[in-house]
Amino acid sequence: MRKQIVAGNWKMNNDLSQTDALISDLKGKTRTSDAEVMIAPTFTNLYAASQALKGSDIEVVAQNMHFAENGAYTGEISAGMLKSIGVNTVILGHSERREYFNETDELLAKKVDAALAKGMRVIFCFGEELADRKASNEETVVGDQIKNALFHLEAAAFQNIVLAYEPVWAIGTGETASPEQAQDMHAFIRKTLADKYGNNIADQVSILYGGSVKPSNAEEIFSKPDVDGGLIGGASLNADDFFAIVNAF
Ligand code: PEP
Repeated sequence: MRKQIVAGNWKMNNDLSQTDALISDLKGKTRTSDAEVMIAPTFTNLYAASQALKGSDIEVVAQNMHFAENGAYTGEISAGMLKSIGVNTVILGHSERREYFNETDELLAKKVDAALAKGMRVIFCFGEELADRKASNEETVVGDQIKNALFHLEAAAFQNIVLAYEPVWAIGTGETASPEQAQDMHAFIRKTLADKYGNNIADQVSILYGGSVKPSNAEEIFSKPDVDGGLIGGASLNADDFFAIVNAF
């Protein structure tokens, strides 16, 4: 059985007191689904968040990391540093990292390797831009992103990989892929995995959808057979909305 996952990407939002307040709100919510729940605060608040959520069923994950173990990389954070504060999962390849910080598939392959080498789980993000979809190139773009960053891995590595399909045109825009568009792409992604690694692996990997998921559309999107949950940006900053999405399963 694939894991159902709802992960909140807080991006560069919430200082320490806002992080504390949102976590208190989240702890007060009632859960009616079995989905794994994760939140990704900023680096400066990861330790406080992981302490505040110790023993709870909400996992604290990082939004990014560097591929090196340590060294002269001013401003960067390594997998080992994340693990030392109890963070065992990292989001890599978010479209904002690709767009504003020039993260390429080649760089992301190194980050994926570094995270897996430390025993971390990776939520690997990818997705096409609007121009790609208008040109009907979305499958080629998505297929290449996956192959370039992940297809050097051994099959066993996929036990620690979660995929997150996030069409760039739907992130933070209020525009969502239709449930059918999401399902079509998720089925394509699963087939791409199956062609390389076989059906067993492809069937085990959770594929999340991200892009303006909200309480009003989560249930329909999550009802699709190849959609195993969501990576949630804006709506994860409000505990009621986030838990309405968690409980949409
Ligand atoms: C995201 O940043 O991963 C995301 C999906 O954002 P939003 O939900 O705000 O579109």
